[in-house]
Formats: sequence, structure tokens, C-alpha cells
Amino acid sequence: MKIKSLQHSFVKFIPKTLDEGVLYVSIEYCTAAHNCVCGCGNRVVTPISPTDWRLLFDGETVSLSPSIGNWGFECQSHYWIKQSKIEWAGKWKKEQINAGRNKDFQDKKEYFKQKDAEILGQEIESKVESTIKSNQKKGFWERLLNKLGL
Ligand SMILES: [Zn+2]
Repeated sequence: MKIKSLQHSFVKFIPKTLDEGVLYVSIEYCTAAHNCVCGCGNRVVTPISPTDWRLLFDGETVSLSPSIGNWGFECQSHYWIKQSKIEWAGKWKKEQINAGRNKDFQDKKEYFKQKDAEILGQEIESKVESTIKSNQKKGFWERLLNKLGL
């Protein structure tokens, strides 16, 4: 049976068996999971991250963005979870799925490139800092030695 809306349940761990019509959300593990709303019983796991899904909780309802496309299941269900309601979206053609996957890949690449740049920036900063510190140390010893007339 097709499910029209999902209840949300905030949990620490996603349970092994999911109740139909419940969207489990683990903030701690940045993951949401539910059973495919077509009723096929397949488990749909949606990681929450800048490059995966975004979760919107307005105090009463939850929304996930972007849409959920279960291309890996036989049902090929494609829907949105908007304010806890299921909005069915059209089935995608193969090219669209590939284009979507490609875009996802590009997004991830961009994201990690940015992350890498951030980490590299931090490394450079800490290197500069330690160089300054060791220079300061040298300065101290040099001054001490000068003081002692050595
Ligand atoms: Zn399904």
C-alpha cells in the first residue's frame, strides 16, 4: 500500500526493522531512514550531509531535500518528503538518472576539493606558526648567549 505521509521519530540509532510510515532520524549519526513509501518494504537510507540530503524540521513536520529516487529497487519509486507528506515525482529516464548521479559526483568532488583546501590552509597556517615559534625560540637563545657574552 502506498504511504501518504510519514511520521518522524528522532532516535539515536536507526532500528534494524523499520515501521512502515515512519521516518527515523538520527541527528547524532546524520542519517535518516524509512521504508520505501510504495510499500515494497525496501529500506531507504538517506545520509544527511551537505552533499547528500538536507533535513528540515519545523517543529512539527520533516522535509528531505532533494527528492528520493529509489533507482536501485524494482519499484523505481521517486518522491519528495515535504512537510512529512509524500509527493510523488515522475519516473526518471535512464539519462536523467545518470545526469543526476553525475551531478552528485561533481557536487561531492567540489565539496571535498573545498574541504581539502581548508585542511591544506590549516596545515600551512600551523606550519607558519611553528616556524615563527622556533624562530622566536632561536631569538631567545641567541639573546641569552649574547647576554652571556658567548
Ligand atoms: Zn518501493
